[in-house]
Amino acid sequence: MGWVVVVVVLAVVALALILREPVAEARVRRRQRQQERKRAARRRRVAEAEQRRRDRAMNPAKAAARRGPPRWQQVAQRNGSKCWLCGTRTYPDDRRRAGVGTEQLGATYPTVDYVVSIDRGGTYDMGNARIAHRLCAESRLANPGREEFRPPLRTYAA
Ligand SMILES: [Zn+2]
Repeated sequence: MGWVVVVVVLAVVALALILREPVAEARVRRRQRQQERKRAARRRRVAEAEQRRRDRAMNPAKAAARRGPPRWQQVAQRNGSKCWLCGTRTYPDDRRRAGVGTEQLGATYPTVDYVVSIDRGGTYDMGNARIAHRLCAESRLANPGREEFRPPLRTYAA
């Protein structure tokens, strides 16, 4: 009976010795595969970022769409602060506080208007953005065919 136990123990030991190498190799291979997957994912992310950067460089409209509507200050700096519809100056101080955190904007307050309006497929990029009096922009919107605009009067005193 004793020899059976010895044989079984020897067999187990031999099996363990035989399997030890392959198990270690499998672990190494698994780790390599994980690292390779991570590297591939990183390469993909870098490539996507690069593609986005190239898109933006090539297509200002796409870039503008990503940024969203510009602030009137940015448009004024780039395209001038006169109303592009009636040709007279705009008044950033034509406004007043109306309660906490809200303001009422006067007729001559500068707003961003779009040569091709956004709802007709126009874009937010600077080439399409202009400064207009709040009232001029509203009346253009209400009356798309209109060609002439009379300079509005200030709503709120300076
Ligand atoms: Zn105007």
